[in-house]
Amino acid sequence: MRKLYAHAQEREAFGRPLAGFQVTRHKLVDMAMLTDVARTYTYRAAARIEAGVNALREISFAKIFTADVAERVCREAIQILGGYGYASEYGVERLYRDARILAIGGGTTEIMKEIAWKTLDGI
Ligand SMILES: Cc1cc2nc3c(=O)[nH]c(=O)nc-3n(C[C@H](O)[C@H](O)[C@H](O)COP(=O)(O)OP(=O)(O)OC[C@H]3O[C@@H](n4cnc5c(N)ncnc54)[C@H](O)[C@@H]3O)c2cc1C
Repeated sequence: MRKLYAHAQEREAFGRPLAGFQVTRHKLVDMAMLTDVARTYTYRAAARIEAGVNALREISFAKIFTADVAERVCREAIQILGGYGYASEYGVERLYRDARILAIGGGTTEIMKEIAWKTLDGI
């Protein structure tokens, strides 16, 4: 994230840095915000497991949300990097491909939603 932030400050397009465009700044804010929320929520689910509390809903919510965030953040990172993001030297394209499995492996998002559905009774 730090490298991406630096790139957005340094790389110029149409006479100004990418971060000089509101659309780029907003992308970076969304990425930082979503990552922070995903991490915090996952820690909350882990704390419930650690406390011996039934955390089925939080676990499924965390799996669904973090898989989606990982993919979205990688996608936006590539967008900000432009052509560089697509080059294997930058590593992000590999992260993007790796992130795609998160909604499939270890319980697909659809199955996680079926599990979450069963916990909604009485909401
Ligand atoms: C690279 C990779 C690594 C893997 N590593 C492991 C591993 O280490 N351990 C392990 O146990 N498994 C592993 N898997 C298997 C993974 O868990 C399964 O791919 C996953 O559970 C989906 O099963 P499937 O591929 O048979 O898809 P399918 O069951 O054919 O599902 C296809 C699609 O239909 C949807 N679907 C299926 N049933 C329903 C339903 N009832 N309601 C709504 N939608 C539904 C699924 O969500 C999915 O989107 C790995 C898979 C890959 C690709």
